[in-house]
Amino acid sequence: MRKLAARLKEMTGEGALEVFTRAKELERQGRSVIHLELGEPDYHPTAPVVDAVRAAVAAGRDRYTASRGLPQLREAVAEYLHRTRKLKVTAENVLVGPGCKPCLALTMMALVEPGDEVLYPDPGFPIYPSLARGLGAKAVPYQLLEKNQFQPDLDEIEAKITPHSSVLLMNSPNNPTGAVYSDAAQERLAELAARHDLWVVTDEIYARIVYGGEYHSISLLPGMAERSVIVDGFSKSFAMTGWRLGYAAAPVKIIDALDLLVMNVWTSVNEFAQVAAIEALRDSTNAVEAMVAEYRKRRDAFAAGLNRVPGFRCLPPKGAFYAWVNVEETGLTAEELGRRLLEEAGVAGIAGTAFGAAGKDFLRFSFASATPLLEAAVERMLTLSAHWRAAVAR
Ligand code: PLP
Repeated sequence: MRKLAARLKEMTGEGALEVFTRAKELERQGRSVIHLELGEPDYHPTAPVVDAVRAAVAAGRDRYTASRGLPQLREAVAEYLHRTRKLKVTAENVLVGPGCKPCLALTMMALVEPGDEVLYPDPGFPIYPSLARGLGAKAVPYQLLEKNQFQPDLDEIEAKITPHSSVLLMNSPNNPTGAVYSDAAQERLAELAARHDLWVVTDEIYARIVYGGEYHSISLLPGMAERSVIVDGFSKSFAMTGWRLGYAAAPVKIIDALDLLVMNVWTSVNEFAQVAAIEALRDSTNAVEAMVAEYRKRRDAFAAGLNRVPGFRCLPPKGAFYAWVNVEETGLTAEELGRRLLEEAGVAGIAGTAFGAAGKDFLRFSFASATPLLEAAVERMLTLSAHWRAAVAR
């Protein structure tokens, strides 16, 4: 039998999906599980968006579209990025894809050569190093540490840049830490990218979900528009995870390259979803602001609750909707604790190593869940903590 392509051995999946599968299995056995493992809003798209998709299907908008996406949607994305992020982009700089993640994958295919080095945040979205290695590159982590409030350490990054470095990946607000990269960090990152001629791939999927202050995209900094690719989408801001819609915003040269890859991979994104996405981008009901205000309340209450659990330490995140909890002082490994929380207390979270080696003392819980569930989760953790306190004391 012929073997599968060697690149598969270099790639990894997502820990969240494994925990989700186990949690579902426990539920089938009749157990109650509070799901805090997936990064999925407990909201749905607004009524105007649902009406728009219904009307689009009824009007027969179910055809192939241009591979880059519907021109009206590309224009709407450009206007939206200008309105919400002050970016000076036109429809020419936008390509629509079936999610942020596929746009990221194609961007990496367009930019990364075998033998290159790709800098990525650790902890971070597990797909970054997986894609880099799958494309024959070396994945080089840069750490986001608690002692630095999870900000990147620019001296570390500078020391890790070599003549082979080609892409610097960043994600602000960051999954899983919730850190929003400071202006000072972004300025130094931009300076390093220019000095070493690096592409910057900036995953801005959580850009609308920030708790205070305006979001600043690194691509706004001088000289950055020509070397950065923004990937973003509708999953988190507009609670449209299952619609599979995202986009890349980049210099035309890169959009042309991505378009070639689209023709080789997905042809076009489903038309009725694209039509309705134009409605979502209008922000006609201010649903994003309302959702973020609710997340902020949950963040404050949940972080306070988690900090009551013996051995837990959680800095309230500045963006996204994850609590990133240091559990070192429980005396258990994060893996063991995550396993016991799921198996014995029915709380599903993810052990931090799923996001990289720097996550080893952490657990991630999503707070995109209703307040009573978050409160119940904290109560279950407090109850279980009696066991680990006893175990640690022994
Ligand atoms: N980027 C980050 C940092 C994420 O956390 C996620 C989803 O969890 C994605 C991208 C994927 O987005 P999409 O659902 O649009 O593919």
